[in-house]
Amino acid sequence: MSDQAFYSGLQSKLETLRSDGLFKPERVIASRQGSEVVSQDGRTLINMCANNYLGLSGDEQTSQAAAAALEKYGYGLSSVRFICGTQTVHKELEQKLSEFLGTEDTILYAAAFDANGGVFEPLFDENDAIISDALNHASIIDGVRLCKAARYRYANNDMLDLEKQLVAATEAGKRHKIIVTDGVFSMDGTIAQLDRIVELAEKYGALTMIDESHASGFMGKTGRGTHEHCGVIGKIDIITGTLGKALGGAMGGFTSGRKEVIETLRQKSRPYLFSNTLAPMIAGASLAVLERISKSTELRDRLMDNTAYFRKEIERIGFTIKPGTHPVVPVMLFDAPVAQKFAARMFELGVLLSGFFYPVVPMGQARVRVQLSAAHTREQLDKVLAAFEQAGRELGILKSAR
Ligand SMILES: *Cc1c(COP(=O)(O)O)cnc(C)c1O
Repeated sequence: MSDQAFYSGLQSKLETLRSDGLFKPERVIASRQGSEVVSQDGRTLINMCANNYLGLSGDEQTSQAAAAALEKYGYGLSSVRFICGTQTVHKELEQKLSEFLGTEDTILYAAAFDANGGVFEPLFDENDAIISDALNHASIIDGVRLCKAARYRYANNDMLDLEKQLVAATEAGKRHKIIVTDGVFSMDGTIAQLDRIVELAEKYGALTMIDESHASGFMGKTGRGTHEHCGVIGKIDIITGTLGKALGGAMGGFTSGRKEVIETLRQKSRPYLFSNTLAPMIAGASLAVLERISKSTELRDRLMDNTAYFRKEIERIGFTIKPGTHPVVPVMLFDAPVAQKFAARMFELGVLLSGFFYPVVPMGQARVRVQLSAAHTREQLDKVLAAFEQAGRELGILKSAR
């Protein structure tokens, strides 16, 4: 407590964040997560900014499955996996995930952040090359930093640049090369071109890895993920993902792939070796979620119907969106202060959504991001669309109103 300059330094950096409009306050919710939430002040809001794609986060069946596992396996294990922290439910979940994803084996983590943080260093060294999309998630960037492999970066979703980097890594004589991409990029809802990535990987003898955090559970006809969407099931070497978004929404992550890879991670991956086991109620609920969505595509189909409806209607009203099919819908407002005002007005109108501006997205690309859920009713979506229209009129940003 003797270094006052340290604390005043932090204070002034925090003030700069506030004055630059980059400070992130936390909204406090007093209810379960869901398509509607009750905020601390008692207002009911339609929630358009959760990663609750299948609507399972606040769902009663999910809670019941967690309660059943809590009762059977207890609250926690006070151990890492390899000492005395592995229960039957952990092994069952790993097996179910492998089956769902079409892989040989799966290892669980406390978070996808840990899965990505602990995947590269045990598998690659200075003789190898990691070829990574420029917009990959922060946890991939951190994981790559912890590894001694040479780093190559390609422009987002740019297959010509990816090939250039593959050539460069090949010419540098790298032993193993791995192409790493988010399956879906969460700012734009862009879907990685996995069919072309697999082709390039075959051409240059490279491995492939995808992070399926915004895809597992709903992308592809039966919700297996982006690899199903792109027709490359069984052709991706490593799949990482989260249990904290569509697949129940509590927390937890995984890495899935060939058994040699998973076995190596169990022996060497630091966030797995040195961090507590996933709580059994989360493992049990995740298992129930996977069983539920393996039996029926109803939730995934409803999510995609809601997405198609919202995308069509928001454009009809006169807003500009990034084209696509993913339930992440960026509604473009371009100007940062406009986006800020817009999100604030939507909040007054009873709609929860988040605005993004530079430096999170490029300059001049400010937006509000809408995320659809299977839990949204048509009535809720119509209310949201009406609020968009009203706020758009008031702020003079509808194309037809210009
Ligand atoms: C959300 C997210 C993560 C982190 O997931 P957690 O399980 O919350 O740690 C990792 N990668 C991507 C692409 C994500 O969107």
